[in-house]
Amino acid sequence: MVYVGIDLGGTNIAVGVVSEAGSILAETGAKTLAERPYQAIIRDMADLVKKAVSKARLTLSDVKSIGIGIPGVAGDDGVVFNCTNLGWVNVPLRAEMQKYIQKPIFIDNDANAAALAESVAGVSAGCKSSVFITLGTGVGGGIIINGKPFSGGHGRAGEIGHMTLVPDGVPCTCGRNGCVERYCSATALIRSARQECSNYPDTAILQKAGGSVDRVNAKMVIDAAKEGDASALRVFNSFARYLAMTISTITWFFDPDMIVLGGGISYAGQFLLDAVKPWIPPCQAFEKLPLPRLELATLGNEAGVVGAAMLGKQ
Ligand SMILES: [Zn+2]
Repeated sequence: MVYVGIDLGGTNIAVGVVSEAGSILAETGAKTLAERPYQAIIRDMADLVKKAVSKARLTLSDVKSIGIGIPGVAGDDGVVFNCTNLGWVNVPLRAEMQKYIQKPIFIDNDANAAALAESVAGVSAGCKSSVFITLGTGVGGGIIINGKPFSGGHGRAGEIGHMTLVPDGVPCTCGRNGCVERYCSATALIRSARQECSNYPDTAILQKAGGSVDRVNAKMVIDAAKEGDASALRVFNSFARYLAMTISTITWFFDPDMIVLGGGISYAGQFLLDAVKPWIPPCQAFEKLPLPRLELATLGNEAGVVGAAMLGKQ
């Protein structure tokens, strides 16, 4: 039997047929065109599932279940109650999907799905416990305990992005202030870089952006920092310090075997790990205990599809 995984994003829908071991056998995808009614999007998702299955030279009878990773939160009843990027509120995703394909359908947050993928077929495979942090436009998180995602009592466990990092800090999209997401996301890195550009217009960041502050992106900041540009290093090291504080909090609270960094910022690779680690000093009270291993995600874009598929294996 195989599993189908759907990575539903605000821009793209990716669908894959995935083996028991977590490898992709066939893939397909399409633009989400999120402004359409949800019925049209879900119908496309069902068509893509059929297309992916036939691409793998299989039929729907070979499919055990379908898993869907969404950029939001769904209830046990398969209703997506909030998905900002898609403008979805109370969308009956499972029921709508089962109009086209009568299979068990599992829905979870995309960060939980990516966390699960890494724990099945990626860097955290074999770990008893791990926490996955996505550093992208926002900050997401997924907790895996004994091979299973842990979503908490109400579905918000692992929403690392909205832990408070700075009291009365930068306002967040969630309506509160000073959330991790406002300091540890690509958006945050770009915000501080733009500030730095106006204070130090000779920075390499601004050169890479063709002199336009509005064109600064995270890659430009990371590349300039790697080249040793003083402004970029200031911005990146401050970012790394906030991330290290977040990692420390996770360590004290949950002490997982491994913490995995994924998402767009993990593009920085070893440079990111090297910047973060010095800000996580061992604590004297527990100095003999090892810290959780800090690693980079290895599955990249595949994680969404593989993890969604593996939701059905739990
Ligand atoms: Zn927030």
